[in-house]
Parts: sequence; C-alpha cells; structure tokens
Amino acid sequence: MMLEIDGWKVNIKFAAAHFIPSHHKCSRLHGHDYGIKMRIYGVEKDGILYDFVALKKEVRGICDSLDHHILIPRRSEKIKVEEKGENVEVRFGGKFYSIPKGDVAFIDADIPSAEELAKYIGGEVIKKVKFPSNVRGFELCVEEGPGQGACEYFELEGER
Ligand SMILES: [Zn+2]
Repeated sequence: MMLEIDGWKVNIKFAAAHFIPSHHKCSRLHGHDYGIKMRIYGVEKDGILYDFVALKKEVRGICDSLDHHILIPRRSEKIKVEEKGENVEVRFGGKFYSIPKGDVAFIDADIPSAEELAKYIGGEVIKKVKFPSNVRGFELCVEEGPGQGACEYFELEGER
C-alpha cells in the first residue's frame, strides 16, 4: 500500500534562493518555489497505513527553517564557506558573496541541488518522525516548481 502527500496542495512548500557551482546559468544566485511530495509505503494495520497528521507538521517545520533563506551547503568542495562576525562569506568560481547570517539556511549537503535537498530533508524527517513499524519506507521528492524534481527513497529499519 502507498500513501501520498502532495505538498503543493497541502501547503508543504517553501521559497528559497540557491546557486549551483559549475553550471553556466544556475551558478548565478536565483530562487525557486520548492514543493515537497512524499510517498509512504507499508502494510495497513486495522485498515490504516499511517496517520500522517504529525508527519505533515514536522515536514512543514523543516520547510519553514528553509523558507525565504539562501541555501548554503555545509560540506562542499566547490563552495568555500566561512562565518565572519555577523556574516557568512561564500566563495566559488571567482565569485564572492557576503550574506547576513540570518538570511542563510545551512544544509548538510555538497551542493544545494534538488537531489541533495531531497536527501537532506528526508534525513531530517527520519531524525524527527517516529514511524510505526508497519511503515516500511518513504520516498521524498523536492520539486523546483510543480512537475520537476528529484526523489530519494528511505528504507526504515529495525524495531520502532
Ligand atoms: Zn536553481
């Protein structure tokens, strides 16, 4: 059985700015409306796969932490990031940005692509949400505008 959540329709989305180094057009600072889609896989228990009200709240919270921020990856070989006083200094490919700390959302990723965001947000979901044992795994998709995005599958293991 599969249960689906479409963030564009149930308000699990955010707007943020990013840049992708080594990509001609996308290396310039620009923004997207991001929407989250989730598919939850498992076996129903008493006719229900999963009551996802709490899940939606947690994923919305993760989206809120990114909303209206500039997404800066924490572990990147291509992007050099340094915290200096009240600012975050970012250097890549001969470019230099100095951004007020409050405008930055750090993500645990190499580059702030939809693929890496899907892995990051899915990892945060696993940290925050206690799924029941009949849920076997979930797929988390990050769309840059409706209809184009990247999905990562997360297998849930062990006793829960
Ligand atoms: Zn982009």
